Amino acid sequence: MSRRPVIAGNWKMNKNVEETEDLIKSLIPLVDGAEAEVVFAPPFIDLPKAVELTKGTNIGIGAQNMFYEEKGAYTGEVSGEMLKDLGVKYVIIGHSERRQYFAETDEGVNKKVIKALKLGLTPIMCCGETLEEREAGDAKSKVVGQIRKDLADVDDVTKVIIAYEPIWAIGTGKTASKEQADEVCGWIRETITDMFGEAAAEATRIQYGGSVKPNNVKELMGMENIDGALVGGASLTADFAKIVKY
Ligand code: PGA
Repeated sequence: MSRRPVIAGNWKMNKNVEETEDLIKSLIPLVDGAEAEVVFAPPFIDLPKAVELTKGTNIGIGAQNMFYEEKGAYTGEVSGEMLKDLGVKYVIIGHSERRQYFAETDEGVNKKVIKALKLGLTPIMCCGETLEEREAGDAKSKVVGQIRKDLADVDDVTKVIIAYEPIWAIGTGKTASKEQADEVCGWIRETITDMFGEAAAEATRIQYGGSVKPNNVKELMGMENIDGALVGGASLTADFAKIVKY
């Protein structure tokens, strides 16, 4: 089964509306015709502009988070319904920065993934181990544990994009070696096989994320279990096109 690679830019808390317009306008012609599926995930306030600018292009727009309730007294939150209404197609869920700074739990991540799927949004569900966990030999149990909890009771796992992001490689310039990244993506696929069966595991896309750059993307994408990239820092300039068209 061949899986179409998906390259997503996670802008994190960068770019105001004007900067969003500039970056997207410069990237539209550069990523046109890419073989990979292309996703940009700017901050919430930029989403209307991003959706408007990318209409009719090969770029899909994603949010960086959502809440699982539809509406109500949840100050500061944005619902999946609101994203969907705007024309957003993807949503990053459970990024390690959200788990670390905003106390996101596996239980909450699981609820968000299920809700996103129910709304027809494609979740990009993140997992990954810290440096201490890796050095203690606990990378496998951490990541497998996250997958089991975060994807529990999901109806169709093939509609989820999983992003394996070793926390020690995010924004540090330290990329996991292609072998390290592929090994963990393999553990993830094994876990999905165990939970949902082999056909589902074969069809599910697993991205690598953590200091992906134009000069290392190709070797990572050549690995058996890696089906794309979630890119932070290197998605903030027109150079992102070099990653998209690796
Ligand atoms: P980075 O971030 O590419 O800047 O390491 C990746 C991510 O956190 O999604």
